[in-house]
Amino acid sequence: MGARTGQDYLDHLQAHPREVWLRGERIEDVSTHSAFESARSQIARLYDLQHDPALRDTLTYVSPSSGERVATSFMIPKNPGDLNLRRNAFRAAAEATFGLLGRSPDFLNVTLAALAEGVEFFQRAGSRYASNVNAYYEYVRENDLFLTHALITPQNDRSKSSAEQSDESLHLRVVRETDDGVIVSGARMLGTLGPIADEVLVYNLPGLKPGDEAYSMMFAIPVDTQGVKQICREPFSGGGESSFDHPLSSRFEEPDSLFVFDNVLVPWNRVFLHNDVALANAMYVETNIRQHTAHQTSVRGLVKMQFLGGVAVAIAQAVKTDQFLHVQQMLGECLQNIEVVKSCIIASEVQHETGVAGSIRPAFQPLQTVRTLMPVMYPRMAEIVQILGAGGLLMLPSSEDFVSPIAGIVDRFYRGAENVSAIDRVRLYKLAWDLVGHAFGSRLTQYERYYAGDPVRTTASVYFAFDKAEMKALVDAALVLQGEPGESAREGRAPELTAAT
Ligand SMILES: Cc1cc2nc3c(=O)[nH]c(=O)nc-3n(C[C@H](O)[C@H](O)[C@H](O)COP(=O)(O)OP(=O)(O)OC[C@H]3O[C@@H](n4cnc5c(N)ncnc54)[C@H](O)[C@@H]3O)c2cc1C
Repeated sequence: MGARTGQDYLDHLQAHPREVWLRGERIEDVSTHSAFESARSQIARLYDLQHDPALRDTLTYVSPSSGERVATSFMIPKNPGDLNLRRNAFRAAAEATFGLLGRSPDFLNVTLAALAEGVEFFQRAGSRYASNVNAYYEYVRENDLFLTHALITPQNDRSKSSAEQSDESLHLRVVRETDDGVIVSGARMLGTLGPIADEVLVYNLPGLKPGDEAYSMMFAIPVDTQGVKQICREPFSGGGESSFDHPLSSRFEEPDSLFVFDNVLVPWNRVFLHNDVALANAMYVETNIRQHTAHQTSVRGLVKMQFLGGVAVAIAQAVKTDQFLHVQQMLGECLQNIEVVKSCIIASEVQHETGVAGSIRPAFQPLQTVRTLMPVMYPRMAEIVQILGAGGLLMLPSSEDFVSPIAGIVDRFYRGAENVSAIDRVRLYKLAWDLVGHAFGSRLTQYERYYAGDPVRTTASVYFAFDKAEMKALVDAALVLQGEPGESAREGRAPELTAAT
């Protein structure tokens, strides 16, 4: 089949009814329900972009197996040119959505590409698991399916392991094996775009404890598999809002859901890991999923930060607060944050690592730096927009006021500095409020805090993963200079000039 169109995606959605619950009711048809209208149309738009003549060569490449054009995000890069093409593809998708769709299809496409690149890892579980991974990667690539993923156990009792919870099937576990596959029961969170995805990928992040064998698993199944239920959070946008009043929340809301698996059969050909705590804990790191996905998330995050930074600059300019030093300092902080992310992406590509069979991947450390700084930088930039917009973000008329008997008053009192008309200023401030104030905007910030796991533990793990050799060499060189207690500097050892000094 190759790269799908938006209509292909929507037809597939309609042909695969699934069990989705919202506000206590089972949704009859997610392909028509208004709660998912904006998300559906954004995903369909992204699929259509693959066929836009201006973007086709960026967003798709020729499949090595079928010769069809397939999404570039499935590519296993072989040279710096491939990495560059993949970055451009991530960027094009992110620009089309202002970086606001966290889990656009390219995110899990690149996850599967990483698994296929790191398929040797799965040989350790058994050759059939490695074949399953490869076959699944090719199947999704050639059919251009849209995946969600659910990696996290629900927040029940975080002080206990999965096996120690009060109910043994609270957290998703393998209940039993059959000739056909494994039967799984329990819950996983949080499937962004799950209600309108085609398939769900399940794996563990590191952290399973001995005794958690039944909870260690990796598989992928269609979301319409018998026994898979999704419980949606309440939508922030009711659908049908004014696009003037809610330019972003009316278009870019991603539904999130809790996945509940009720005695679900996962066929053997969809099982990638099973009953092995050590392998399940090692998979995320040793397959290099981390840096392949962080390539996509960093590029998407960069676009979102550029958008947010652009809004910060525009609202300050609209009322000329950019003339004050402390405002310039806050805007400078936003611009530097953007530059840090941009530089890390470039560094990751320049310092790329060599994988197996001639593949390359972006370097880990620069992208891990983005992954750990984004949860700090993005919320700070959102806070800066709140500080700069201040009461003006709330003192906003409705779109109806501009076409009402008080239109003249509105035009007079809501204008900005010099040539900024009331309608232009209100339009801009409403954009800003949607981005950082509205419930939709709060989710956007919460997303950047948590999409890559708990930032506390991720940042702490940098301490262990970071290559500290250069730092240690400098400290060692200085320690040599110190001589012995009681020696004066003159008597102490002279520094040896090395390449480093
Ligand atoms: C908007 C949004 C979209 C998301 N989309 C997806 C998705 O599509 N797929 C997906 O799989 N996940 C998704 N996630 C989930 C995300 O992966 C988790 O939120 C993240 O891993 C943090 O886990 P948690 O929310 O359970 O928080 P917790 O891990 O429970 O952490 C909550 C707080 O408690 C502390 N804490 C908890 N346990 C420990 C511990 N053992 N040691 C130290 N500190 C601890 C943390 O530091 C933190 O401050 C999404 C999250 C958000 C907010």
